Amino acid sequence: MRIECIAVGTELLATERVDTNSVWLAQRLARLGLAFHRKTCVGDDRQDLADLFREALDRSDLVLTTGGLGPTFDDFTKEVLAEIASAPLHEDAACKADLMAFYASRNRVPSANNLKQILIPEGAEAVRNPLGTAPGIWWEAPAGKGRCTVVMMPGVPREMKRMWLDQVEPRLAARAGATLHTLRVVVGGVPESTLDERTRDLRERHAHLDWTILAGIVQVELQARHPDPAALASAEAELRDLLGPDLVCVGDSNLEDEVLRLLQARDETLALAESMPGGLLSAKLTSVPGASRVFRGGAVAYTAAAKEALAGVDAGLIAAHGTVSEPVTEAMAEGIRQKLATTWGLAVTGNAGPDLDPQGATSVGDCIIALSGPDTTELRRFSIPGERADIQLRGAAWALDLLRRSLL
Ligand code: ATP
Ligand code: MG
Repeated sequence: MRIECIAVGTELLATERVDTNSVWLAQRLARLGLAFHRKTCVGDDRQDLADLFREALDRSDLVLTTGGLGPTFDDFTKEVLAEIASAPLHEDAACKADLMAFYASRNRVPSANNLKQILIPEGAEAVRNPLGTAPGIWWEAPAGKGRCTVVMMPGVPREMKRMWLDQVEPRLAARAGATLHTLRVVVGGVPESTLDERTRDLRERHAHLDWTILAGIVQVELQARHPDPAALASAEAELRDLLGPDLVCVGDSNLEDEVLRLLQARDETLALAESMPGGLLSAKLTSVPGASRVFRGGAVAYTAAAKEALAGVDAGLIAAHGTVSEPVTEAMAEGIRQKLATTWGLAVTGNAGPDLDPQGATSVGDCIIALSGPDTTELRRFSIPGERADIQLRGAAWALDLLRRSLL
């Protein structure tokens, strides 16, 4: 099925709004094993919209539009297609009842332009909008285009999502065949190409599944889709064996969820001393509800003075080795662990660039991670590729991954 998305709204072409509707729709389509072959943002312009509709009716089996269904002068998505299809508009009785009830419940009466919203082109079906006043449209073969269905939804993301989930997706799922289930496996510390090679045989043995590898900034995800959950479960079991500790988690959870889960299962606590990531690690952990059960807190110990004052690092150690050094990072991890009386202390130093370290001791991307635990302190030195923001994100993620592996 060739599916196309048209996001209508001049605001989407300028800087005020980003088209997030199409991204959300693409995520939902993926669950059905479907994908867009094309998506477009178009301004509130009758001619541009008409041109686009004519092309879309010719090249696609399904066209999803969002926006331009409202009551104002710049909302005309429906009218433009009705014109192309030479379909007269008529008031839809059920939509009119919805609209009247909507206004009655607010002690108001609809104005003339509100009534414009319930005009439905002949041949199209209205899709009710429980959260707003503009109904959507389900229109099979407008303009006599035998194979194309057009589904129009409101631009307001909340209204679009509700309409999609309750009324559009179930209909499409029935048309696309069985519902697909997804297996999502998050892998840490393994580059995409390595993961590709390591899982090749397994994927060939399970070639009836639909596989994708998605590389992100800090992790790689392996996804498989199939209508039968048992087929996914057997692939999952084999993946767990194959990947061992490199498998971070399965399903909707992420690295930070997994670290917190492991700490909680062991009844242990964590403190952080962040230099190079500047608080990113704390932000990641505290984005998970209930993090305070195991994460006590920490310090953004960015300068030498802060490393001394907040993480208890000895000034002489910094003078002797420099801030981005193994002895100083180790002292930060141990210092913060003692100050907050936690099981683990995790520290990250490094040079995120773009400038070279004035003392010339480190290169851009150098990163040192220290994990101080009840028995020993572990140290890792990495050279992280990427720009400043990537280096900081990766430094934070690799530190969490080192902790995760120690907790396994
Ligand atoms: P309604 O039918 O509820 O009156 P509408 O169909 O007329 O809405 P618009 O007026 O185009 O929709 O947009 C309403 C709001 O939704 C605006 O704040 C707009 O920025 C936002 N919006 C529209 N399209 C998108 C999109 N593709 N992604 C994210 N937000 C969007
Ligand atoms: Mg609009």
